[in-house]
Amino acid sequence: MYEGIVQELIDELGRLPGIGPKSAQRIAFHILQTEAFDVSRLAEVLVEVREKVRFCEVCGNVTEQERCAICRDPRRSAATICVVEEAKDVAAIERTREFKGLYHVLGGAISPIDGVGPEDLRIRQLMERLADGTVTEVIIATDPNLEGEATASYLSRLLVQPNLRVTRLASGLPVGGDLEYADEVTLGRAFEGRRVVQG
Ligand SMILES: [Zn+2]
Repeated sequence: MYEGIVQELIDELGRLPGIGPKSAQRIAFHILQTEAFDVSRLAEVLVEVREKVRFCEVCGNVTEQERCAICRDPRRSAATICVVEEAKDVAAIERTREFKGLYHVLGGAISPIDGVGPEDLRIRQLMERLADGTVTEVIIATDPNLEGEATASYLSRLLVQPNLRVTRLASGLPVGGDLEYADEVTLGRAFEGRRVVQG
């Protein structure tokens, strides 16, 4: 335990995901040794990001505008939508440079244990995007774990529409893992080898 504000800093850092007590202490001491200017900049960015960043009204990705950069990009194909759980999965797939369509961020996965049902996810918004027939393929890229698989099978049953192909990323992704932790090569291959589950 440290005196007052130092301990407060360690406690706050320790509440962040993936930061244990030792890491929190290490970061706190790093901050104590950093130039005041740099620390102010970090504090500003933390406040700014919370104020400015919101979710894209179309796909649910993070953005500073009404629509995210991907939805605004006219070079992206509107015929394909890749469905992911979180915005961080969009970043993971973008790094593979394998996909030129649009995304749809669900905001999680179906998980009865955590009380998350289909109505808690952005599934209604997805159905609305499919209504005009522009989209001809939906690629389900939920995580290769229990919740992700449950969500994928729910969606594949739901997305039965004429002229719509539903595909799921190929296996080869580490089972039980998170999409964001897959390396670019594995994720890229999973994209190329996606299989049709509907249509
Ligand atoms: Zn968007």
